[in-house]
Amino acid sequence: MARMVVPAAEELLDKEIKVLDKGFVRLVDYMGGDERIVQSARVSYGAGTKSVRQDRGLIHYLLRNDHTSPFEQVQLTFHTKMPIFVARQWVRHRTARLNEISGRYSVMRDEFYVPAPEDVCIQSANNKQGSGEALPMEDALEIIRQFEADQKALYARYESHLEKDLARELARINLPLSLYTEWYWQIDLHNLFHFIRLRADAHAQKQIRVFAEALATCAAAVAPLAYEAFEEHRLYSLKFSRSECLAIQAMLAGQPNPLEGRNLQIFESKLAQIPFFEKIQEPDEPTPPSPATVS
Ligand SMILES: Cc1cc2nc3c(=O)[nH]c(=O)nc-3n(C[C@H](O)[C@H](O)[C@H](O)COP(=O)(O)OP(=O)(O)OC[C@H]3O[C@@H](n4cnc5c(N)ncnc54)[C@H](O)[C@@H]3O)c2cc1C
Repeated sequence: MARMVVPAAEELLDKEIKVLDKGFVRLVDYMGGDERIVQSARVSYGAGTKSVRQDRGLIHYLLRNDHTSPFEQVQLTFHTKMPIFVARQWVRHRTARLNEISGRYSVMRDEFYVPAPEDVCIQSANNKQGSGEALPMEDALEIIRQFEADQKALYARYESHLEKDLARELARINLPLSLYTEWYWQIDLHNLFHFIRLRADAHAQKQIRVFAEALATCAAAVAPLAYEAFEEHRLYSLKFSRSECLAIQAMLAGQPNPLEGRNLQIFESKLAQIPFFEKIQEPDEPTPPSPATVS
């Protein structure tokens, strides 16, 4: 079959999705889409083309049962620009191919990430890797002013070293993690879903989460049925340990929850992700009137 063209993806091609203050995600190219996943899966069975409803069912079946290799047949290439501290987290995802701007070859641009005041937060009290409450506006603005002053001074020093003909590969070494870098990044849909699941998660740092969300927009355009199945079976699904399954079993039988301490806390934080779970737990509570009956 000829090259697959997906109209929603064509619409997105070459358009910069703005992320953070100076970053972006740009879908450069793609290969395949929902149809390619279906073709690749059906080649195993030698079956011909089926209706969209059957395609959707098949795609959901594949993801539900971890038959993920047909999703690897879809490729996406991105041009992205992000601060170096985001790039360092991003590059941990090994199942992609990338080419990054070289600070040995090029003069790095005077572009640094500066957080918005609402993102200047104190250290989280219960998560050693996380942020807590936002600082009062006055304090946040002062931190931002300090960030900017340091970035300006370091870049001025960088330029002065370049003017003295210091090698670019050495002149750059004191530039900070807030400096923007950019790369071309190619990944297949299966591994992109894995990236999005980990990095769009509330436990990931906000500054990479917003990139994961932009990548998700592109994935949904290229393969909407696959993205829908990913949301259903991965992104918004929950994983329970054996002990947690036993706890659910006990609760459903009206028995006390056997979990305690930290295990109970973890379990409850999972349950809190289920919308309206508290309402489900309290069957005696009177049911609120449905919107249609409210006068
Ligand atoms: C919230 C969060 C916090 C994190 N904190 C830290 C931290 O404090 N310190 C730190 O160092 N890292 C940290 N990481 C990075 C994390 O440990 C992983 O390296 C990163 O998420 C990439 O995941 P991955 O290996 O599954 O992805 P990929 O590299 O894309 O791999 C995808 C999958 O391919 C398989 N795979 C790939 N390469 C190999 C291989 N060589 N051998 C076997 N299987 C392979 C694995 O099944 C893997 O899950 C953090 C990640 C997250 C999301």
